[in-house]
Amino acid sequence: MLLTEKNTTTVDRRIRRDFASGDLGRVHRKIETTFEHGQWWVSCRNCSCQFSVCDTNGPFDFEQVSGGDPLLCPDED
Ligand SMILES: [Zn+2]
Repeated sequence: MLLTEKNTTTVDRRIRRDFASGDLGRVHRKIETTFEHGQWWVSCRNCSCQFSVCDTNGPFDFEQVSGGDPLLCPDED
């Protein structure tokens, strides 16, 4: 079973850590994690964009499934 298919607090903590330490974490700072339909999702409480959490050999990967308002979370780079 993939880690991203496990509904545990350990996986939740790793998702938050991996998201926050990546490029996306610099843009979307107020996130919410949910376990739904057998997998994890990350959504931004500020701009409402949503990501599907994907398992890799390294840090978790975050695939954007719906866009948020770029004015609410501007990419400052
Ligand atoms: Zn955002």
